[in-house]
Amino acid sequence: FLRLLKAQKACMSSIPEPIKNPPLKSKIFINNEFVDSVSGKTFPSINPTTGEKFVDVAEGDLADVNKAVSAANEAFRLGSPWRRMDAADRGNLLNKLADLMERDRVVLASLETLDNGKPYNVSFSTDLELSIRCYRYYAGWADKNHGKTIPIRGDQFCYTRHEPVGVCGQIIPWNFPLLMQAWKFGPALAMGNVVVMKPAEQTPLTALHVASLAAEAGFPPGVVNVIPGYGPTAGAAIAQHMDVDKVAFTGSTEIGQLIPQMAAKSNLKRTTLELGGKSPNIVLADADMDDAIEKSHFGLFFNMGQCCCAGSRIFVEEKAYDEFVERSTERAKKRTVGDPFDSKNEQGPQIDEDQFGKIMDLIESGKKEGAKLCTGGSRYGDKGYFIQPTVFADVQDNMRIAKEEIFGPVMQIMKFKTIDEVIARGNNTEYGLAASIFTKNLDRAIYLSNSIRAGTVWVNCYDVFDAASPFGGYKMSGSGRELGEYGLDAYTEVKSVNIKISQKNS
Ligand code: NAD
Repeated sequence: FLRLLKAQKACMSSIPEPIKNPPLKSKIFINNEFVDSVSGKTFPSINPTTGEKFVDVAEGDLADVNKAVSAANEAFRLGSPWRRMDAADRGNLLNKLADLMERDRVVLASLETLDNGKPYNVSFSTDLELSIRCYRYYAGWADKNHGKTIPIRGDQFCYTRHEPVGVCGQIIPWNFPLLMQAWKFGPALAMGNVVVMKPAEQTPLTALHVASLAAEAGFPPGVVNVIPGYGPTAGAAIAQHMDVDKVAFTGSTEIGQLIPQMAAKSNLKRTTLELGGKSPNIVLADADMDDAIEKSHFGLFFNMGQCCCAGSRIFVEEKAYDEFVERSTERAKKRTVGDPFDSKNEQGPQIDEDQFGKIMDLIESGKKEGAKLCTGGSRYGDKGYFIQPTVFADVQDNMRIAKEEIFGPVMQIMKFKTIDEVIARGNNTEYGLAASIFTKNLDRAIYLSNSIRAGTVWVNCYDVFDAASPFGGYKMSGSGRELGEYGLDAYTEVKSVNIKISQKNS
């Protein structure tokens, strides 16, 4: 992300102006058509910059999920156009979808900013860029994930086939709507599955626009279905459905614990989970301090702190601690906050009133529990859901702000003395999503990265994402991996075929 942001700064003038009133697709998408919900109900989509409603969206629930799952099963029927399609042609369709997203890039980036509140420049240059690259990456895999021939005993010919899992339910959050859709659609469609996706109720609009582009690209009806709606109704209907073969979920650990239960109680559908985090960012005294301070700032404040992998426990070695606190505070004070459509702003609003309230409550707990508030700590402005960039120092491991996922622009800085101490404290969490280490000492970098129990470790960098590099959590941060070749496993069943042959000739 940092590399992308630098590139973005360099070519800021080349980013086209946003569209303030982008076209809104706000119905349910089933069988390549937009339809009203069966109940006729809608729900409001709120602009987080103003706190005001800007569109009513069709509210899907069990009845709509049933329709979508039927359409998906029909599209997955043996002999259907999708099942008969050559793998390479599935790849061509994914590339076509990426081309259409490129064509509609300004519309999609504008919609993302309107619905989510992230700065338009970031939507355009980071979210769109990574999403488009993800589709192209998985387009390349469509005809390259194949089985093996296996020399078993006897006169047998044994081989494996990598087959699609079937109907994949996909439930995604609001922090990176387009990117989370790409991480889920990309591998699922490349491997020949069909999908029923529920976007987050806070951010359904870009998912629906991309669904229409999938139809335009030529995906057959029923392959891609998108049901906007709420979690306990539409989301649970997907997780519990008897005719859904797999569910992929990204969101809170709390709901992540329910998903496998629903899957197990219905049809034991496969599950993959990408959940919360409280990632340690370890800064050693020998690090390049300019770099460590800027990247730690980015690793926490990027996307208004609404990242599952945010570096929200920053452990700084004793000798560098005072300098780090002082300079990180200065950097946070300079962070520009305001209208996400204004290109000078680095930070927009939080997603909604609930999240705003949750973050303010955690800030208050930090103050009460005795952390040192270096800057921020209050609401920013008087409308929308803006929060001042906030830095706490002298944070202790047992404080709520050191233990709970804040998902907001609130930095925690802690002091440590020895490497073994920081490993123990870094690992002292129920989560294990990501970690980072800043040091010039290669031995220490490797020792620490081997010792921290997390799915991703960044050394002298933060939030470096690439569609080829797998991502996922240890412990309560989830199960399974997304992205890269590893990400294909979640969307593939392995079939072993044994053929009796008359005589082995070799
Ligand atoms: P959430 O887990 O409630 O929502 C994520 C998705 O799950 C949404 O699409 C939601 O509609 C759906 N969902 C909710 N309840 C469901 C249910 N019973 N069955 C099926 N689907 C259901 O997350 P949230 O309320 O939007 O955010 C709460 C916290 O979750 C945040 O403060 C943050 O800590 C964490 N979070 C993590 C991520 C991540 O990327 N890991 C993303 C968003 C939020």
